[in-house]
This record gives sequence, C-alpha cells and structure tokens, in this order.
Amino acid sequence: MPKQLVDKFGRVHDYLRISVTDRCNLRCVYCMPEEGMQFEPDHRILTYEEIAEIVKVLAPLGVRKLRLTGGEPLVRKGLDQLIGMLSKIPGIEDIALSTNGIYLAQFAGILKEAGLTRVNISLDSLIPERFAKITRGGDVGRVLSGLKASRSAGFDPIKLNVVLMKGMNDDEVASFLRMTYEEPIHIRFIEYMPIGYEGSGWKAGYLPLEHVLDTCRRLKWSFSRCEDVYGNGPAESYRLEGAAGTFGLIHPVSDHFCGSCNRLRLTADGNIKPCLYWSDEYNVRKHIGDSSAIEQLFFKALDAKPETHEMAKALSGEQQNHIPTVRRMSQIGG
Ligand code: SAM
Ligand code: SF4
Repeated sequence: MPKQLVDKFGRVHDYLRISVTDRCNLRCVYCMPEEGMQFEPDHRILTYEEIAEIVKVLAPLGVRKLRLTGGEPLVRKGLDQLIGMLSKIPGIEDIALSTNGIYLAQFAGILKEAGLTRVNISLDSLIPERFAKITRGGDVGRVLSGLKASRSAGFDPIKLNVVLMKGMNDDEVASFLRMTYEEPIHIRFIEYMPIGYEGSGWKAGYLPLEHVLDTCRRLKWSFSRCEDVYGNGPAESYRLEGAAGTFGLIHPVSDHFCGSCNRLRLTADGNIKPCLYWSDEYNVRKHIGDSSAIEQLFFKALDAKPETHEMAKALSGEQQNHIPTVRRMSQIGG
C-alpha cells in the first residue's frame, strides 16, 4: 500500500486548496475589512515553481484534486502558467478555481486551454446595487459575463457560491434557485463563517441554511435530494423538480462535516493549514528544495489536525478547545 495522507482519525486527504495570493480586487464584507489589510510582500509569496514543487511531493501521497483560490487568484499574473505546470504532474486529476468572476470573461478560455477543469464563481447577489454593497464596489454585470464566458469555454460543471446572510441577501434565495430551473448550474448556499473575527457583526448576519428549504416549501416548489455533481466536498445537494441544475447546502456552522474532511490548505505565504478554523500553521516555505522535509512537514501538520472545528461554539459563546485563527478568509482561501 503506497504511503497516504491519513490523519489519526482515519481521514484520507486527497485534496489541497492552494491560495495563490492574499490580494483581491474586491473587499467582500464577510471576508476582508474595507481598509487596513496588510498584504504579504512579493518575496514572501510562494512562486509558481515552489507551488508545483510542493504538489509534486503530495501527488505520490495521494493528492489528486487541487483548488486554486486566494484572495482573488485572477489578480495574480500568469495563473495559466501555474495551471499548466500542475496539470502535468502525474496523479493530479482535477484542478478547480474559486474566483469572484470579475476577470473571467477575459481569462476563461485561456485557463481552460491551460488545463483548468472546473470553476466556482462567488456571487452573493443578483441585484447590482446590493452586489456593489456586499463586495464594496463590484460590478455584478462583469461576474455574469464571466459566468457566460466560462460556459462558452466549456467548463462543466459550473458552481455558484452564495454566502447567505441575514438581512443582506436572504430574500434572494428564490432568484438564485430560479436560475437552476433555467440552466444547468449548481448553486451552493454557504453558511456565513466566523473566520478571523467573531464580533457581533458575524452573529447578526449568520443564518442557518434551513432557510433555503423553507423558501422552497413556502413557494410550493418540489425538491428532492440528489447526488452532488462532481466536487470535493461537503454540499448536501438537491434538485427542484424539472430543474436543469441543482442546489446545495454547505453548513459548516450548524452541522459540521469534519468527519469526512479530505482537505489540506496551503496559504499564499507557504503555510500548511490542517484546519480552516484553528490557528495552527506549519511553514513549508523554508523547506523548499528538500522534498523529504516537505513531506515530513505535511505529515506533522496532519498529525496535529483536530477532529473538528468548533464554529458552533463561537455562536453560542462556549469555551473552545484551541485558538481560532486570526487570519481573514482572504488570507486562507476559504
Ligand atoms: N476570491 C475568490 C472568491 O471569492 O471566490 C476566492 C477566495 S474566497 C476567500 C473563497 C470563498 O470563501 C468564496 O466563495 C467566499 O464567498 C467564501 N467566504 C469568504 N469569507 C467567508 C465567510 N466569512 N463565511 C463563508 N464563506 C466565506
Ligand atoms: Fe475577495 Fe473572494 Fe474575499 Fe470577496 S470573498 S474579498 S472576492 S477573496
């Protein structure tokens, strides 16, 4: 049996989320503060060659799926070069991208050509003024053009990620669901997570996802559980009767899915994060050039991976067992 990335709870890790930058062209209210972010200087960010070197160590250990994220990955120049390098690594089967979609109309074709297999687009409102408010200045028209360009480039499946927030976009659930009737798109509603801060702002905006199913019931739209379209994860998937697409619920706070966690994270500044929520990090940048030290560090990080995050305790105010991260989501990659 080849060596695998298995932690002490028996979870097999075959998925790496790679943040390629902590910078972004938007400032979503739940992800980044409006001002005062300290960005990593270029010399502290992993180069594309360094990222590929790390993936070359992990692929023989069973990592097959990668996701490029950020910050906004498309603000980093030459992302297609990285995709080209990663797609040539034996064992890598799937390279997905998480993006806000602003630059997708420009890059979708190039990325597909380079070897990108899937795209997830974040889109929290279909109402232009509201989208601009949530993203602090974004243009929803550009995201929708990016979505169209992704479809023309041949990406399939395409998923839309919607972070649901009380009083912010919870009245748009039906509009998003309607999109699945019309096109083969996969909408994934995500619970608002307390990453990097746990102030009253998050608690006030947090909304359990039962709201999505309640909306379907209120509108008398029939729906049933279905298989998740190809993906890496935790969505609980549904299809509205007669719909071309599907919708999914990702509820890390109200009902965590840590038991099936298959993912590790690599931050843009070269830190391995075994869990999104906790502060533990392992700096792999200093081991570049030494594949056995890189491998050992990943095993050390895995060994320290806790059984579960405790986001729900952040909601109830209970004492937590570890120290939550102080990084913002844009510094981790989601
Ligand atoms: N910029 C890209 C994007 O927006 O898709 C990739 C990075 S972003 C950090 C990755 C995902 O994290 C996005 O879908 C975003 O909506 C989500 N996200 C950020 N902060 C969040 C929070 N506090 N709770 C839930 N999801 C969050
Ligand atoms: Fe940028 Fe994505 Fe964070 Fe929005 S969610 S600020 S687009 S990194």
